[in-house]
Amino acid sequence: MTNYKYVYGSVPSRRMGLSVGISPIPKKWCNYSCIYCQLGRTKNLTNKREIYFELDDILKEFKNYMKENIEFDVVTIVGEGEPTLYLKLGDLIEGLKKLTNKPIAVITNGSLLYDETLRKELNKADIVLPSLDAWNEEIFKKINRPHGSIKFDEMIKGLMKFSKDYSGELWIETMIVKDINDKEEDYLQLKAILDMIDYDRLYINTPVRPPAENYVEQPSEESLKKAIEILRGISIDKLVSEGFYSEEKDDYEAITSIIKRHPMNQYEIKSFLASRKCEKIDDIINKLENDNKIEVINYKNYKTYRLK
Ligand code: SF4
Repeated sequence: MTNYKYVYGSVPSRRMGLSVGISPIPKKWCNYSCIYCQLGRTKNLTNKREIYFELDDILKEFKNYMKENIEFDVVTIVGEGEPTLYLKLGDLIEGLKKLTNKPIAVITNGSLLYDETLRKELNKADIVLPSLDAWNEEIFKKINRPHGSIKFDEMIKGLMKFSKDYSGELWIETMIVKDINDKEEDYLQLKAILDMIDYDRLYINTPVRPPAENYVEQPSEESLKKAIEILRGISIDKLVSEGFYSEEKDDYEAITSIIKRHPMNQYEIKSFLASRKCEKIDDIINKLENDNKIEVINYKNYKTYRLK
């Protein structure tokens, strides 16, 4: 079994089917520190684009991954921080395109779209998924806690500009957090901004995984319904996950290789193990509970497991 540093998965994406992740950024390097971030608080808040890792090393790894004939539907550049901070993002997208015919997606917080160079680089991707949670500077600071050099108006202008020129699929994702951006007024104001952006889909998300700040709560069902109605978005929570995948033969190793990058809750683990016809599901869950390399977080009746 090959040990990968930049490539992981494939994991099911509720939006894109089986997704192979490419991470060109070190863990928790970001220009936001969102209150709902499932990675915890940002450790390195930076707005400087850098070559964090050698492009050739990332591409070489993906080449090796392709040799394993693992099934996937999409390659997603996502990282455990903000992938647009990777200075060679454009070259990375081009390099990946030479190695696969599958679509290349980039999940981004969208903050750097005010930078024309980055907009050009992202033009090469097939799907771009930027976030948009706030409709003014005040909420922006509250929910995304951006780097001091990022201004709400510039971020929005960048997103608008990008949307006009981009020929791929633009899927915006909005995270709704109780008492932060979950009032009718918030949805109406956000809709007014969205009306100025040419996007293809809008996904509405809620904090289902343990957030960076414990005061983060999900909006009520009623408020979520209102958001879907006003924003005309698709609720991610209602999409069905296709099941996880790991090339590891050993069931326990398979789980740990996934939760290294993608936290799983007890239901996801159980259905994943059942799909592999594992007969010792409870034993594996017990082992996870007692493994000191693994963090078990209780959140909204979900026990989420992730590698420390
Ligand atoms: S932009 Fe993404 S990685 Fe960065 S803090 Fe927000 S949720 Fe976390």
